[in-house]
Amino acid sequence: MRVCMGCLKQVENKVYCNACLRKMFKGKSPILNLKKTEFQTIRYQKIDHFSISGVQDKISLKLSGKNLIPTTREGEYILKPVPNTDIEYLQADIPANEHLTMQIAKQIFKIQTAENALINFVDGESAYITKRFDRREGQKFRQEDFCQIGGISPESDGPNFKYETSYEEIGKIIHDHCAAPKIEIEKLFKLVLFNYIFGNGDAHLKNFSLIETINSDFVLSPAYDLLNTNIHFPNESRMALDMFEDFETEHYKNNGFCGFEDFIKLGEFYKIKSNRVKKMILEFPGKREKVEKLISQSFLSSEGKEKYLEIYLDRLKAMTEKF
Ligand SMILES: [Zn+2]
Repeated sequence: MRVCMGCLKQVENKVYCNACLRKMFKGKSPILNLKKTEFQTIRYQKIDHFSISGVQDKISLKLSGKNLIPTTREGEYILKPVPNTDIEYLQADIPANEHLTMQIAKQIFKIQTAENALINFVDGESAYITKRFDRREGQKFRQEDFCQIGGISPESDGPNFKYETSYEEIGKIIHDHCAAPKIEIEKLFKLVLFNYIFGNGDAHLKNFSLIETINSDFVLSPAYDLLNTNIHFPNESRMALDMFEDFETEHYKNNGFCGFEDFIKLGEFYKIKSNRVKKMILEFPGKREKVEKLISQSFLSSEGKEKYLEIYLDRLKAMTEKF
């Protein structure tokens, strides 16, 4: 079976389905006329000029006709291949992992995400490609990550600055800055929960942003950088931030990791109605079959698929078992 490198649905003799071509590439069949080795050269030559931050190897691209070309200005896409640094496990699966995780969030859990797909270099290897969402119809919208909003930087908070807070605390950013906090805080809650259940142990402050709307108020931005980091770093902690500032549930005291009770408590701290919180939590075991199907259709290696599923099932267990 051949599947679309965008939505993972079945296609015949095509790389992308028409819907994905429209959403990602303005309806054109894109050409990435670049080798992986050329990517490295561009990356190192232009590193200082690209306006995208972060430590991962990535470059900006724009669409010129059908061609995706590297650019330093007005990039429309971000391209992230397999990183060159040594990763403990399943390194070659990193682009497929990010792609699958983003697709699960979007298609199954209806989390708004950056548009994304996989794309091949001319020499064959696949990379993850995502569309920037701070540019719409030629206009640039203000986007600030939670470090910027909170005034947190390596200078003020040390080298670990992205991790020096809790999920409880970042809820306050929503209450302080969004015009409709009740809606946005539920979106944040669901995203924190999603990250936990899908093994994203690196959901730090820079991976959450607010973005300006057409009405000049702020909402939580579409989700980005979602991936199951636990399959690559099995010994890392389950969550990038502590759950609470100064509190531990009985579940956490007994097990050393978060479960159902912790998320119920987070919902209380976020002032979300308890029936809404329970509904959001129960959605995760409820959609197990759909998740399993999308994992099996993904571009992960067979070992990658196995590990991915294993972590998802393990987290579901933590969320449904009573201790
Ligand atoms: Zn598609």
